[in-house]
Amino acid sequence: MTSYKVAIVGAGPAGYFAAQALQNLQTEELQFTIDMIERLPTPWGLVRSGVAPDHPKIKTVSKVFEKVATAGNFRLFGGVELGTDISIEQLQDMYDAVVIATGSAVGKKLGIPGEDLPGSLSAAEFVPWYNAHPDFHGVDVPLNCETAVVIGAGNVAMDVARMLALEPSELDPTDTADHAIDALKESAIREVVISARRGPEHAAFTSPELRELPKLEHTNVLINKSDIKAAITRAGNAIEKDTKNNLDAMLLISEKERTSHDRTMKFQFLATPVEIKGAGKVEEVVFQKTGSDEKFTVKCGLVITAIGYEAASIPGIPYQSGKVVNTDGRVKENLFVVGWAKRGPSGVIGTNKSDASDVMKLLVEDLKSAKDKGDVSDLLKDKKFVSQSHWEAINAAEVAAGEPLGKPRKKAVLREELLGLGGL
Ligand SMILES: Cc1cc2nc3c(=O)[nH]c(=O)nc-3n(C[C@H](O)[C@H](O)[C@H](O)COP(=O)(O)OP(=O)(O)OC[C@H]3O[C@@H](n4cnc5c(N)ncnc54)[C@H](O)[C@@H]3O)c2cc1C
Repeated sequence: MTSYKVAIVGAGPAGYFAAQALQNLQTEELQFTIDMIERLPTPWGLVRSGVAPDHPKIKTVSKVFEKVATAGNFRLFGGVELGTDISIEQLQDMYDAVVIATGSAVGKKLGIPGEDLPGSLSAAEFVPWYNAHPDFHGVDVPLNCETAVVIGAGNVAMDVARMLALEPSELDPTDTADHAIDALKESAIREVVISARRGPEHAAFTSPELRELPKLEHTNVLINKSDIKAAITRAGNAIEKDTKNNLDAMLLISEKERTSHDRTMKFQFLATPVEIKGAGKVEEVVFQKTGSDEKFTVKCGLVITAIGYEAASIPGIPYQSGKVVNTDGRVKENLFVVGWAKRGPSGVIGTNKSDASDVMKLLVEDLKSAKDKGDVSDLLKDKKFVSQSHWEAINAAEVAAGEPLGKPRKKAVLREELLGLGGL
């Protein structure tokens, strides 16, 4: 029997699915000990800090992650950052294989004038702010304006728009950060414009998310019927199934009887943002009608761009176009990459499972004789790190604090607070 040591860096879905794939590949002759290294004191990646709090069912995938973590021969090292606390060379020296699963968390920029004005944010800041990510609790989100513009045509843009447009008391039974619920309850925003550069037939929303919108009890959802009819004509007969489902869902919304709630979420298509203007803060977005010279403006005090993500570079790892350079997940000998760091920001949580499973098969093919070169805990002996049992204590404390409030959990935000719950 040979036992190999594998380090997985990043405790998001891709990291856990990679660990699960390795566990499934074990035989009597082939065994793995897995160390998962995560920069935050909490694991689960975007399942904790990305997925919208009003979609709690999606977060139940964390049960799978905890099963992987407690299956044996698995250690968590939370609060340990690759590139800061430990280097890729140190990991490669000590482990038979290293798997990068660090996701892609930097918001892409529009590259237009005014984008850096106060009041112009990326979804990569706004989403972790409402989801209690410790690095984002101090983000300044100006909510003292009547209108917000969300730029983007994918599910992240839709999550952002929904969070701004729903009646904030609907967030009480969720795990939204307390600071965000308090701020949203004070919000003056009553209109959220979700703006897409191209037509509805090109939007990357998915139809289940669209079909949910009419169920919002306190928000008018507006889509212009003529926009959808024109998109159906442009798309023609050779239309793909997903596009058709999307257009059907949008048509349904556009044909729904008008409601007269205080809050409105409105879709705008074929609008290219060209400038964000304002004296010292966002006051309006200038759009060009896509494909024409015609310009128009939307007055607003908050702009949030949700146009994709790229990976932050970690020293010693090759990057290109916001992703780790790789061939089918192999970066170089005994160094692999999975998830959003490998593919870029596409695919749902489940996409990372089949992807990680394929890459772990390659990892097994590359293995040679097992190394015996010390333990990572020796390198971390002066550092407080969150082990699986510390994390279980944090998790249990958050769930217990949420229970009397009818929430799945009451999230702690700051690192010190989280470490305290873990008994560190
Ligand atoms: C706003 C948003 C909403 C989404 N909603 C849904 C949804 O409803 N349903 C769905 O199926 N999918 C959803 N997704 C997609 C889903 O979250 C991704 O497919 C998935 O999280 C990608 O997994 P990952 O492990 O590659 O990255 P991540 O989930 O980002 O995990 C990466 C982990 O690596 C850690 N890390 C980063 N750098 C370092 C470092 N240097 N050292 C150590 N650790 C590090 C991070 O802290 C993080 O924990 C959503 C995505 C976003 C952005």
